[in-house]
Amino acid sequence: MKKLYTSLPEHDRICVKLKGVTVMSNSRIVKYTCPYCKRGFDVEIWDTVTASSDPDLRDRCVSGDVFRLSCPHCKEEFMVQYPLVYIDEDHKFVLWLSEQEAPVSLKQTTKPLTERGYVLRRCASLKEFCEKIQILEDGVSDVMAELAKFDSFIEFTDNGKGTAEEITAVEYQRTENGIMKITVRCADKGMSFLIPLTMLEEEIAQNPELYEVGNDIFPLINSEWIMSLYQEADGTA
Ligand SMILES: [Zn+2]
Repeated sequence: MKKLYTSLPEHDRICVKLKGVTVMSNSRIVKYTCPYCKRGFDVEIWDTVTASSDPDLRDRCVSGDVFRLSCPHCKEEFMVQYPLVYIDEDHKFVLWLSEQEAPVSLKQTTKPLTERGYVLRRCASLKEFCEKIQILEDGVSDVMAELAKFDSFIEFTDNGKGTAEEITAVEYQRTENGIMKITVRCADKGMSFLIPLTMLEEEIAQNPELYEVGNDIFPLINSEWIMSLYQEADGTA
């Protein structure tokens, strides 16, 4: 995947709009240089996506189509991850998609949004972004989802189904009737785990401080985050 978002302008102006109550999806046309043929063309990039008012755009975020570009000259197709603010007013969450921390102007929205019950998160990659939308739309805690993924990973390796090196992905699938489904994938096989939410709640209740997460800086809650918790707890960080 080509990531060339250094060529894309700053996103400060969108963040100010977030302080308002209703935000509209917002895109603009920028010049882009094809990484293959080096010729320029115009692309539409989205600064802000409001899922509740633009269901089609929400679908294009989850499928990754919003980030898929096609060069009109050489016809190459490729993905470009660029910074984007994703707002879901129905499920009350805001995601900042970027490898960089949220800009100051976005962090300033933390307090009013937290007061309104919003979950605020950063996603470093497109994969994390798509998964996070699904988790938060399902109305479950992403801390719980990361814990379930971690537990599934441990179970998979402890039972000799595959080594840590062989695992290519640990994915959140869905939560239905209080059961979370996680799939662990190796190159040639996969295995699904069905984990009751009550079990995860109990696990968290044993050490609530460890899993406590604030909205303060649009935190990154992913597999690296959960692994860092255990390393710190073991004193091996
Ligand atoms: Zn091209």
